[in-house]
Amino acid sequence: MKTLFRNGTIVPGSTESDALCTCMIIEDDRIVYVGNDEPISLEGYKVVDLEGKKILPGFIDGHMHLLLFGASLSKIDLGACTSLASIRSTIQSAARARPNASRLFCRGWMHSMTDGAALASMLDDLDPRPIFIDSKDLHSAWCNTPALRELGLLDAATSPPDPAGGVIHRDPVTGTATGLISETAAVNIVWPHVAKVASPDEKLAFIRDAVSAYNAAGYTGMIEMATDENLWDTMKLLRAREPVPIRLAAHWIIAPKDSEGEVFAQVDHAIALHEEFNRETSPDFRIAGIKLICDGVVDACTAALMEPYAATDADTTGDMLWKPDILRKVVHRADGAGLQCALHAIGDAAVQMALDALESCSTVVDGAGSRDRRHRIEHLELTRPGDAARLARLGITASVQPVHADPAILRAWPKLLGEERCRRAFAYREFVDEGATLAIGTDSPTAPHWPLRNVYTAVTRRSAREPDSREVVNKGFALGLMQAVGAATAGSAYSCFAEGVVGRLGVGMRADFVVLDMELGEGGSIPTTPSIQKYINHSLALYFPLKSKHTSPSTSPNHSKSSLSR
Ligand SMILES: [Zn+2]
Repeated sequence: MKTLFRNGTIVPGSTESDALCTCMIIEDDRIVYVGNDEPISLEGYKVVDLEGKKILPGFIDGHMHLLLFGASLSKIDLGACTSLASIRSTIQSAARARPNASRLFCRGWMHSMTDGAALASMLDDLDPRPIFIDSKDLHSAWCNTPALRELGLLDAATSPPDPAGGVIHRDPVTGTATGLISETAAVNIVWPHVAKVASPDEKLAFIRDAVSAYNAAGYTGMIEMATDENLWDTMKLLRAREPVPIRLAAHWIIAPKDSEGEVFAQVDHAIALHEEFNRETSPDFRIAGIKLICDGVVDACTAALMEPYAATDADTTGDMLWKPDILRKVVHRADGAGLQCALHAIGDAAVQMALDALESCSTVVDGAGSRDRRHRIEHLELTRPGDAARLARLGITASVQPVHADPAILRAWPKLLGEERCRRAFAYREFVDEGATLAIGTDSPTAPHWPLRNVYTAVTRRSAREPDSREVVNKGFALGLMQAVGAATAGSAYSCFAEGVVGRLGVGMRADFVVLDMELGEGGSIPTTPSIQKYINHSLALYFPLKSKHTSPSTSPNHSKSSLSR
């Protein structure tokens, strides 16, 4: 059965050769026609009247965290809190509403809400149950005393040492953990514990909830950026039980360890999984490559900078979480096996280290330098002039998250970095102008997962969190609307070698697309009325025919509505 979509605007892609059209025909899960000529006879066609709406390629989140996002949907949201008092009252009322929960999980806390302090004692009188609070950027965890006890951090004699690249903040006299757990200590100690205490059924529900929230927001694909056993096995189990309507490319997280052998063992495990789950064998659920975290984040003064932070008295420049030589060895090992390397680098010093490591692949691994590798750097929040040209020359994808450039969450930056450096932040336009591939993602759950909020901030450089605010962050680095939409669709597809399958609407491509009620603006540039309400209040029908039985449209007005209240 063929389906004709008519009376709307088809936006096949984001380049000038992608002329807008009026109709599209799909058959099963493939696009068989995009153009302006409708069939002479409609016999044998199902006809969908678009009523003037737009069809765009399905969004592909270029960087997200699937299990954490799913878990976050049920966590107590502290994102709207502004002070310790409001955090405490939010937790208290949520705790009353969850009398049967054995633990309280929270998300969305920012260091600035509590003036940088995060002590167990600030939470201990609230509730006797363990309380685990994720920071908004997912780089630290704040725990009450029962949670610290569960983690085994209360007894200084038996408490584990700080892992490489992480800190368990402790009382200098007693050695007891005080509540804040940072960087790899959060990743290696808190997250696995939280994942372990969730039951298999809870984890399956997390992924199910995450995928349906993603579908409802207009996504047909995602690139998971910190895949581990816990997520992989749960996803495998879910796929064995039921269709999972999202295409997933995963980057296996490689944690720093004390010995090279332990690090290489993780890489080799990813290589073995890639041999089994790759583009040919398992195109919708596959290992694309590995992920390494090179530095922290600006807000915690842990992003690695060339020059010291402006806010600290000492010469704090932030720490690299990997030594350059071991980073290079890891990258070469994965690259040699055909895996893509994704390196988290936020500060300009980390970006330089990541560029150096990835550049060395072309001379060290195969000596030729011409192979199509598509390695990537994640975040790129503070770059120097010249970095963009290197990204382009080396074929490295600039994987960016415009939701992190939202002015409402950057108010501490001028104090932390100084005004001068802030003017270099989030240089997306420079990356594009130099010819680098741009892939847009949300890094959910560190930021809202809705794709049009991301596009909104990429284009306007204004706040999607506070749409009435007139603040603008580095307008000169803004993208055009279709550039942003293209980076969130075709760019993300290209970044994981899926450009021949999804990311554009063309004959032979998979029928992954969204129907949106949105204005594209004059000439496809900045929307004439960039109102965030207009973006969120779209009526959206999503087609995700990964299997032909899923070809019927599903609308999701409820999700769109609930999104407004968060
Ligand atoms: Zn991330």
